[in-house]
Amino acid sequence: MSRTPKSTWVTDALELHERPLIRYAKWLLGDRSPIVAYLKITKRCNLDCYYCPWHTTPTDFTHEQDTAVWTAHIDTLFERGVRIFVLEGGEPTLRQDLPVILAHAQARGAHTILATNGTGSIWRFSPTAFTVAES
Ligand code: SF4
Repeated sequence: MSRTPKSTWVTDALELHERPLIRYAKWLLGDRSPIVAYLKITKRCNLDCYYCPWHTTPTDFTHEQDTAVWTAHIDTLFERGVRIFVLEGGEPTLRQDLPVILAHAQARGAHTILATNGTGSIWRFSPTAFTVAES
């Protein structure tokens, strides 16, 4: 008699609940590594808020790291326990590779939050890249 493999949703559900339990167990054992990381994936911004120490112009790519560097950062942080990535800037939607970075974090099993000034067309990104709450 052949053994029936677990269905995908069962496996997904087990993994989804296993991760927080493991994190909590590690916390009880003294692990205080961060669970949230704020990634400033660009300093570029299309606005010029007077109080902001962070932004440059939308076309200033000085010191901007490429996709591979950010996905490697995500991998490293995920291995160290980070499960929530907040992608911010600058204005993160100015990066053409934003969907790739978001998808990479989500593929690892992490949650993603996008901190945007809302002036760009976020709809050009895949609806699966992030969710917008409906009012
Ligand atoms: S929108 Fe944000 S990143 Fe851009 S200038 Fe204003 S505070 Fe700075």
